[in-house]
Amino acid sequence: MSLMFTSPVLTPTIGSFTFSSRRSNYIVMSAVRSNSASTCPVLTKFQKDCDTPTPYLRNVANAIADDMRAGLAVEGGGDLDMILTYVDALPSGNEEGLFYALDLGGTNFRVRSVQLGGKKKRVIATESEQISIPQKLMIGTSEELFGFIAAKLASFVAKEKPGRFQLEEGRKREIGFTFSFPVKQTSIDSGTLIKWTKGFKVSGMEGKNVVACLNEAMEAHGLDMRVSALVNDGVGTLAGARYSDEDVMIGVILGTGTNACYVEQKHAIPKLQSKSSSGTTIINTEWGGFSKVLPQTIFDQEMDANSPNRGEHVVEFYPFFNNIYVFLFLFLQLFTVCVWMKLYEKMISGMYLGEIVRRVLLQMCETSDLFGQFVPVKLSTPFELRTEHLCKMQEDTTDDLQTVGSVLYNILEVEANLNARRRVVEVCDTVVKRGGRLAGAGIVAILEKIEEETKRMGSGKRTVVAMDGALYEKYPQYRQYMQDALVELLGDKLSHIAIKHTKDVSGLGAALLAATNSIY
Ligand code: ADP
Ligand code: MG
Repeated sequence: MSLMFTSPVLTPTIGSFTFSSRRSNYIVMSAVRSNSASTCPVLTKFQKDCDTPTPYLRNVANAIADDMRAGLAVEGGGDLDMILTYVDALPSGNEEGLFYALDLGGTNFRVRSVQLGGKKKRVIATESEQISIPQKLMIGTSEELFGFIAAKLASFVAKEKPGRFQLEEGRKREIGFTFSFPVKQTSIDSGTLIKWTKGFKVSGMEGKNVVACLNEAMEAHGLDMRVSALVNDGVGTLAGARYSDEDVMIGVILGTGTNACYVEQKHAIPKLQSKSSSGTTIINTEWGGFSKVLPQTIFDQEMDANSPNRGEHVVEFYPFFNNIYVFLFLFLQLFTVCVWMKLYEKMISGMYLGEIVRRVLLQMCETSDLFGQFVPVKLSTPFELRTEHLCKMQEDTTDDLQTVGSVLYNILEVEANLNARRRVVEVCDTVVKRGGRLAGAGIVAILEKIEEETKRMGSGKRTVVAMDGALYEKYPQYRQYMQDALVELLGDKLSHIAIKHTKDVSGLGAALLAATNSIY
């Protein structure tokens, strides 16, 4: 039996694999070498703590599914927020007209125009532009930030070639706005900012409707544009992928961070206070917040203790500490762990994998002679080792692990002998294996939840997971471990499932959702 697998690296737009086997035959390129590194207590314990055998993974998948149900029942019912996105209708392919996507979620924002021609003509023309946001606007006022975006939108629209793009008379240009910061969505076209993240701290915005801010700025610039849909990139990916495949039911992001959105039956959402309980709606799981039954190690705890959001919270209380308040301190520690830990995200997403490896290597260095007698300065620098570096090292197929040696030399400024290089690769593999397998367990939880409500696979229907994010795209070992988990947990049901790598479709998805939610 074989597993079909198309590397997204070779087919940049869409790569996919479908399953037809119990076990994969795809060979992990950097198999951890059989002449394994000599024993090191820190490494041995770490490997044991990270282990996720099939029954353990099954537990994780069940616990995620339980928290999904709890989050659908009441607000805050489980670790997963299960946010209502107000996206009830996904693109059908019949959409027509000129629509836009605006993506704001980091140091760049992207704008895209899409001329849709209905079922037959599909996407007739599309144009996009990426604009970097000056640092000072990220910490300025909302008028400055949205004024800048509106001005850039105006010049993007001004460059439009009239022959290629045509707006129907009497209409405003409608935008699907992907805003990748925590938002409390209040309708399809409104949502209040909960808090800024990722280096943004624009004053006076928290608690405000982000759509109104953008609409006002566009009006002030005399732009004939309005936001018709406010979405996140998981919803955008799901919508964009659905446009070309009606079996897409889940959108997963595995990049710097992670999230998953899926199509849920309204009758299965007790907290949905609307009269109609028929039909479907998209749920944004915010699965990164899941924190139960995960294989947590001391390194995860230490990384979490030093993460910015949690750090801030703890620092507020430090002035009050003295001996008699030790118990209070411990209580607060426990409290903040419960409140802030987004353990799942920290175990499976790209931002953190390199940092966990760095922390393990640092302790190996301090307790044994991993890199000789000294601890390299760079190894003590948080986030110095990145997930891209792990990937590069795991792809090394040379006998003496030359690439591993040069990454360690260039990034951490250490000379590592072959034994040390082997140990480093083992640590990378342990972290990536745990991450990939846990991500797989999350996907299984959602697939099984969908199956519970729809019985679609039972009736022979295919279910497709749309994937986006550079971690999934560029890390073959991670992908492989994720697939292994799916194979182990789903067995024969896998023949009805496909994972599709849908790169950068979230912009198209957002524009399509502007079309499906058009006011005209
Ligand atoms: P975002 O999630 O911010 O939209 P991407 O989807 O581009 O961004 O993902 C970026 C993340 O993907 C990086 O933070 C890194 O963890 C991971 N990544 C990027 N390139 C590679 C690579 N070559 N190998 C492994 N992981 C990578
Ligand atoms: Mg992204």
